[in-house]
Amino acid sequence: MMTHAAYDCEVLVIGGGIVGLSTAYAITRTAPGTRVTVLEKERGPARHQTGRNSGVIHSGIYYRPGSLKARFAVRGAAELVDFCAEHGIAHAVTGKLIVATERSELPRLHGLVQRGREHGLPVRELGPAQIAEYEPHVRGLAAIRVGTTGVCDFGAVAARLAAEVDGAGGQIRYGAAVTAIDRRPWGVAVRTADGRVVRARVLVNCAGLHSDRIARLAGDEPGVRIVPFRGEYYELARERLVRGLVYPVPDPAFPFLGVHLTRGFDGSVHIGPNAVPALAREGYSWPVVRPRELAATLTWPGSWHIARRHWRYGAGELHRSVSKRAFTQAVRRLLPEVTEDDLRPSTAGVRAQAVLRDGTLVDDFLIREAPHTVHVLNAPSPAATAALPIGREVARRALLRARATGWKPPAVESGHCV
Ligand SMILES: Cc1cc2nc3c(=O)[nH]c(=O)nc-3n(C[C@H](O)[C@H](O)[C@H](O)COP(=O)(O)OP(=O)(O)OC[C@H]3O[C@@H](n4cnc5c(N)ncnc54)[C@H](O)[C@@H]3O)c2cc1C
Repeated sequence: MMTHAAYDCEVLVIGGGIVGLSTAYAITRTAPGTRVTVLEKERGPARHQTGRNSGVIHSGIYYRPGSLKARFAVRGAAELVDFCAEHGIAHAVTGKLIVATERSELPRLHGLVQRGREHGLPVRELGPAQIAEYEPHVRGLAAIRVGTTGVCDFGAVAARLAAEVDGAGGQIRYGAAVTAIDRRPWGVAVRTADGRVVRARVLVNCAGLHSDRIARLAGDEPGVRIVPFRGEYYELARERLVRGLVYPVPDPAFPFLGVHLTRGFDGSVHIGPNAVPALAREGYSWPVVRPRELAATLTWPGSWHIARRHWRYGAGELHRSVSKRAFTQAVRRLLPEVTEDDLRPSTAGVRAQAVLRDGTLVDDFLIREAPHTVHVLNAPSPAATAALPIGREVARRALLRARATGWKPPAVESGHCV
């Protein structure tokens, strides 16, 4: 039996992206005095998905009622706006248009109207003339406007969460890559690349693109593999062509929303992301190849099922990735005036997409537990929007697991997350 003093902390979080930091934040709020440590391999927070995304506060309109995505995104969007306002973080609630450019998309657009209303969202249907009132340079057959969508600086949100954790007595160690995890009857012992060991009652895995590997290091078979999909962006030189946020009608076969036009919190306009396979988990451009990571993707049967099922769509995405002309052509469906000269390459992001053995792209957030471990195995978009409620849910599970080791919270829980 380990004594309380022999543990370095109660809860050890791997990953200093928005989900890991929100989890640590929720623990400091709901069970103050609980010892929590975050290990992040980079030199600061939000260096991967959290700092390389579209920066959109999603309304929740797309997500199946009853799913974790729907529950957490609708609530998370409102909480995130409050959090940004409270902490002086750049944000704006701008609303967005979802635009149908082909007749075949109209039934799906109508389906989104119904879904938005089920979620209690302010949704307005627009014809071509009304589209032009919002976005004079965008063309479409019909559109809907969702009033609660916005933009924010997710990197700044993550940095603020880190500061709050630090201020509440939590520890955040940057440059601390987890390389080994030893599972014991009393908890976990985690080793970082510099040889240091942290002992904890519960391990929380929020390692994003590496979450399946961390689960296996801990001795838990995740049942999924992370298949990395890069999303490439261009920056629009003639910013005046886009006033706000403009999305296509998404293809229900994919969990990605399609190339959209986004005026960010800083006024710049980005166009993207597409979805191409990345040749490394942090493969932000074609030349970045990690043979071992690529081999892990290729030996997962699910990857081949995806390739067989979606080769036509994938071939189109690959073509648009290597040909700026083809990309521009695709964007012209929404924004006919855009030219190749208007588009400047911008930073890319890589999505951590969990894939089942049979090739199913996991759509909802996926959290799996085992004794002493809680693994966040699928936290794709809108997880940045939904980070505050997701963090509370993961914290709730971690605290229950910590109690199962005989530990009692040092302070009365506020009930906030339970
Ligand atoms: C192109 C793109 C566009 C998107 N657009 C949006 C959007 O507009 N709105 C929205 O809500 N969501 C969006 N998302 C999704 C959103 O960015 C993610 O859902 C969210 O950032 C996930 O956060 P995370 O903390 O799980 O992962 P991450 O931010 O990737 O953090 C994981 C962290 O774990 C660390 N880590 C990994 N392995 C180890 C290890 N061994 N030891 C220590 N640390 C480790 C990594 O360094 C990383 O910092 C987008 C994502 C992408 C890629």
